[in-house]
Amino acid sequence: MDVRDWRTDERLESLAKEYGEPVLPLSAVCNAVETWAGCLSDNNAPPLQRANRKEQGAAYHSTLGWILHDIRKSNLLGRLLYAKQPLRTKPCPRHQGHMDMDELLAGQQGCPCQGTGWLPEAPGTERYTGNVFLAAVDRAPDGTKVLKNITPRT
Ligand SMILES: [Zn+2]
Repeated sequence: MDVRDWRTDERLESLAKEYGEPVLPLSAVCNAVETWAGCLSDNNAPPLQRANRKEQGAAYHSTLGWILHDIRKSNLLGRLLYAKQPLRTKPCPRHQGHMDMDELLAGQQGCPCQGTGWLPEAPGTERYTGNVFLAAVDRAPDGTKVLKNITPRT
């Protein structure tokens, strides 16, 4: 598949007119946010930091790395943005709004929250684990070891 430059993709221009706002790949948004965070950090450290000046982000730039890390691994953001699920609003009676990674990945307890800590808004909502999965070592026909995804489907 050819990779287009989203900046010159006329399909996105057409969608932007329809939606009345920019339409672009999620990776472009994520890269822009990371660039923004990097610029704030750079501006608050030598050699760009200016003496006796409080630069933009001075109060929080040191925590941006942790925040970006949490954003990258967020199951909630994955469900909202990639799985296109609505925000779950009812806490699970058992998990009380807190994620249970064992249940999220294996589902062995059969909890209706699927380990998210929150009940799905609609029946039939699929479990979302992002790019995290349970694996078992298997053998390819030629005998080489391969990882087999054994994450149960909901
Ligand atoms: Zn639960």
